[in-house]
Amino acid sequence: CFCKLSGTVDDCGCKVERADYFNNLKVQPLLNNLLNKDYFRYFKVNLKKTCPFWHDDSQCSLRDCAVDTCNMDELPTWFKEDKEHVGSKEDKYSQKANSEHSCEEERKLGALDKTISDESKQAFKDWSDFDDAQTTFCEIDDELSTEMEYVDLLLNPERYTGYKGRSPHRIWNSIYEENCFKPQTSYGYVSSTRRTGLCLEKRAFYRMISGLHTSINIHLSAKYLFPSTLYKAGGWGMNVEEFKRRFDPETTSGQGPQWLKNLYFTYLVELRAIAKAAPYLEKESFYTGNETQDTIVRKDMKTLLDVVKSFNDHFDESKLFQGDPIEAKKLKEEFRNHFRNISRIMDCVGCDKCKLWGKLQVQGMGTALKILFSGNSIGPDSVVNANQKNSFQLRRTEIVSLINAFGRLSESIKELNLFRNMMS
Ligand code: FAD
Repeated sequence: CFCKLSGTVDDCGCKVERADYFNNLKVQPLLNNLLNKDYFRYFKVNLKKTCPFWHDDSQCSLRDCAVDTCNMDELPTWFKEDKEHVGSKEDKYSQKANSEHSCEEERKLGALDKTISDESKQAFKDWSDFDDAQTTFCEIDDELSTEMEYVDLLLNPERYTGYKGRSPHRIWNSIYEENCFKPQTSYGYVSSTRRTGLCLEKRAFYRMISGLHTSINIHLSAKYLFPSTLYKAGGWGMNVEEFKRRFDPETTSGQGPQWLKNLYFTYLVELRAIAKAAPYLEKESFYTGNETQDTIVRKDMKTLLDVVKSFNDHFDESKLFQGDPIEAKKLKEEFRNHFRNISRIMDCVGCDKCKLWGKLQVQGMGTALKILFSGNSIGPDSVVNANQKNSFQLRRTEIVSLINAFGRLSESIKELNLFRNMMS
């Protein structure tokens, strides 16, 4: 079967079979538990932002594209308090988080506050380190906008919506043609299918996006809405034909298996980011106001982080942005700008459900990149020095999107295995 992948994941070194085993047996069950909890299931998002690139696309009115946002009375107490303060300058997250931490330094700086005081800047030996650590790869929605709403992710699962045609093609095309790096010849750009001749950083960028695209398309094939027929009732299920159409080499000019392998690349990048952020995440309170659940989340998170750290075939980000420092800095900036653009393109998705999950997964990937390219301000070394702990900050929305995005990739790998079994 074309989906029986083997060998190493390109630009990573890890074997597909090893990633399969590790994900399906160790990571998946733990993640499933965690993502059911209040801290992770409520995502705050602005689905009403206007598309900054084009204005002639209308929102689709497909039933399965609709998103149910939360009413005040559905939300846990702490989220309600936060909602009441939307529009005011007060940041409930940092207040709550601060009350949980005894560390003097942390109280001064505000653990989850997005504004960093001068004191924290002094913790950096080098200003460029500070800039790197604080510059995000994503355009995150403005927390204080009155258009921000909470969405219960469990009530709005990512699945087939029927969103197809010109609108998603324009999005994917704009991502690949204008924002993924391409080799340049003296005649201009060459076809997007040829990535040879690109440096590792640019290949990595393309692979991450392609892996995300694969993940989305596996989900919609695995949670497909079959219409009712005269002989059979419709309903949600796995659609092998849809999966084949999207990834069979015969229908994808031979590229399907490579797209499937890119899913593993994206997975390994995010896995590595979580491993690197483990010392930071282990100190997180995951506060929701429900003491019993918060304790379980901290415990389950610790178990997940121990498992993630035990994997020793990670993506090695230290190989990226090496060589001439000026060139490397330029390349990193380009990388960041392209990624930021992709996060803005998500506001152009014409189906709310797809937009919700697209925004969440791109933000999660951006958080992973922020973690990976923040040098030593995060990771085991930063924890040794207590004063340095605050040099790196993650907001609640970044943590929620990172773990949920990783959960989506993990689920895709599991579903790919199910398709494999159905086809063998
Ligand atoms: P598309 O998936 O639209 O692909 C367009 C072209 O990109 C293909 O012809 C191929 O040349 C290339 N391509 C395809 N896969 C890859 C890959 N992995 N790597 C590199 N190149 C590739 N639909 C839903 O039903 N549910 C969702 O939740 C959903 N979420 C979406 C989120 C976003 C951000 C976007 C942009 C779209 C989403 N869609 C969703 C739509 C879905 O992704 C497809 O666009 C749609 O089903 C049409 O599929 P298609 O066969 O025309 O090819």
